[in-house]
Amino acid sequence: MNDINQCPVCDEPVEPGGSDGGYDGYNITCPRCGKYRIVGSALPAFNRITRSPRIKANISGWLRENQTYEIHSENINKLMTIKTPSFHERADKLLLYFEKKTTYAGELLKYDISWLSIGYCVNFDELSEMINYLTNEEYIVDFPTFGDHTIKILPDGWAQLEELKNINADSQQCFVAMWFDDSMQHIYDEIISEAVYDAGYKPHRVDKREHNEKIDDEIIAQIKRSRFVLADFTGHRGGVYYEAGFAKGLGLEVFWTCREDEIEKLHFDIRQYNCIPWQPGNEDDFKRKITNRIEAVIGYGEYKRDSKESL
Ligand SMILES: [Zn+2]
Repeated sequence: MNDINQCPVCDEPVEPGGSDGGYDGYNITCPRCGKYRIVGSALPAFNRITRSPRIKANISGWLRENQTYEIHSENINKLMTIKTPSFHERADKLLLYFEKKTTYAGELLKYDISWLSIGYCVNFDELSEMINYLTNEEYIVDFPTFGDHTIKILPDGWAQLEELKNINADSQQCFVAMWFDDSMQHIYDEIISEAVYDAGYKPHRVDKREHNEKIDDEIIAQIKRSRFVLADFTGHRGGVYYEAGFAKGLGLEVFWTCREDEIEKLHFDIRQYNCIPWQPGNEDDFKRKITNRIEAVIGYGEYKRDSKESL
């Protein structure tokens, strides 16, 4: 396999090589997109598709949020349809990123090219527009030099960050949205709820009789009370789509899962989220992935299961 020395997504120079012995593809570490993989056979197809600067920026931004993602022939089209988050969402993403990179209040951060992907920016001008916005809101102060930025988070920025992250920060509850089918009972009892407990949270699923495929006040109240939502799309129930969308609208983190043979049926808008697939017979792996994802995104919770607690 030939070495590649340019990122197939954003065209930035990357370390030559990238392929390793047993893997038929490339492990890419791009200064802009971060780490991802592309299967060898998918590379020519990927290169053949004309990608506008906007599409490149969207894929690059999305890969940053879904590190170590593998691009293969079947998901190329999906990557082309990733939507650009709103301007304000992107500015929030940048502010959160600055916080992550800041080790003490008052620290100066110097521009690097990963900022472009964090903000889903087409180019430096677009990034500068977002930096201007954050500066005007007094969330940051910018010390612009020619073709560069050096920023620092200001007190109003720290307050905004608290607001962004404090959506039900004290809640230990995970609302589980899924299909009420007998075939799914053990998936909830033995896999999903156990994985949520393992991550230090309390799973909450409304009762089958209560739910009856209608969204009532109790469900809305329980979602509002939750720290995050886990939505399994197997069976493609309207209620699951509604509950996940409602939670997303509130600003809650939503984790998406689906039985592998039904992933292709996922609604177009959902497919751009990094869905955890599962296969019957390989549930332990699924359970571990859920726990890991929750811990990576939200952090380990403090909920201790009562020994008397039934599922
Ligand atoms: Zn790249």
